Amino acid sequence: MKQLNLIENTAFNLIKQAVIYLPEDVKQALQKAYAEETNATAKTQLKAILRNIALAEEHQAPICQDTGTLTFYVKAGAQVKHLDKVKEAIVNATRKATKEIPLRPNAVDPFTQKNSGDNTGRFTPPVHWEIVAGDSLELTVMPKGGGSENVSATKMLLPSEGITGLKKFVVDAVINAGAQPCPPTILGVAVGGGADVALSLAKKALLKPLNEVNADADIAELEAELLEAVNMTGIGPMGLGGKTTVLGVHVDYAHRHPASFPAAVAFNCWAARRASARIAADGRVEYLTRKIE
Ligand code: SF4
Repeated sequence: MKQLNLIENTAFNLIKQAVIYLPEDVKQALQKAYAEETNATAKTQLKAILRNIALAEEHQAPICQDTGTLTFYVKAGAQVKHLDKVKEAIVNATRKATKEIPLRPNAVDPFTQKNSGDNTGRFTPPVHWEIVAGDSLELTVMPKGGGSENVSATKMLLPSEGITGLKKFVVDAVINAGAQPCPPTILGVAVGGGADVALSLAKKALLKPLNEVNADADIAELEAELLEAVNMTGIGPMGLGGKTTVLGVHVDYAHRHPASFPAAVAFNCWAARRASARIAADGRVEYLTRKIE
């Protein structure tokens, strides 16, 4: 089917783009960190990271050996045809990308320890849906490395702990994570909802470009405060010390039960990969993160 092929090809191109090219905002943040670092070891680490990024582009090879779990976000117009085929197209693209790019096979059955070999399996790749008005389909892929995923944190704070408790939780999460998520990281922080909503919003917040200021002035101020606080830890690039532990913090929230104050932190490593494209009803594809001819 033509539509299925179009979605599959677009998803494949996005996976390829995401694992090879870091988005411009992430590259610029790393370049700025390199320019501003005063710690010699941190500067050496950032230089190596920037060289790694350049070599990946030059050789058309994945930025990191851990090509992650391919996490998809689909924003689907309610008028889009064959929505029931989108998941199939994404799974096909994942299999093809694993073989052709290639990607590291990262889907393991937790009971048998058997690796599926193609990055697919039960609930894998994860696909998050949002149905919106219209007739276009927006696809996003976030290849999420295991090192950064392993330090994700959730906590059911007491409502009385409030935003002060949230700040302490975020700083503690960064200190506990240490070098594991390959800093400098990006943090997605969410508060409210149930535990599942908070963690889901925190992870989705990692998709926001680093140069995008939060439209809510109070939340923007909280993000700036958190960024300053976590960078005072001195963990630094790759955990070897320095002033750049975190490149950016994105905060989101949901309304909560009066008795609950769920909080979550999701981490992205310096290899903060993401790529998006929009497929119009007439079949035109617009690549949003990095233009493809
Ligand atoms: S945390 Fe990121 S940079 Fe580190 S090994 Fe995993 S994917 Fe690679």
